Amino acid sequence: MSVATTAPAVAMTTPTTSTPARQVAVTVRGATLLVPCPTWCAEPHTEGYAFLEDVSHHSAPISLATPAYSGPAEQTLIARVSQWPFSRDGATARPYMSLDAMNDTDCAELDAVQAMAFADQLVAHATRLRAMAASIAG
Ligand SMILES: [Zn+2]
Repeated sequence: MSVATTAPAVAMTTPTTSTPARQVAVTVRGATLLVPCPTWCAEPHTEGYAFLEDVSHHSAPISLATPAYSGPAEQTLIARVSQWPFSRDGATARPYMSLDAMNDTDCAELDAVQAMAFADQLVAHATRLRAMAASIAG
């Protein structure tokens, strides 16, 4: 990898990560650092960061196209994996699911157990939706 640097690259370690990481170059206050980046991360890491704690990893989001009262379907249940590896907040220093249920940028932060429980609730809800649809079928 060829990266223009204003300072020597320094390898950093991530406090906690759940997947093998590749190294990416990030710029923090003009200095280029190499940090581990999880394989699920879709961020280009091209922005300049003010603090190392600002470095974050995010997967590509997924969402559900939900029919609306009028107009096009709205995207809901927008979820992605996020991590702020150098955060002092233990909950966001580890990978977690960021869930924007109503597409209003108000995101819940779910750990793996909470995310799996929510997914199970969605499966149960889908089963009830299917039963409801069947009840109105001709
Ligand atoms: Zn990343």
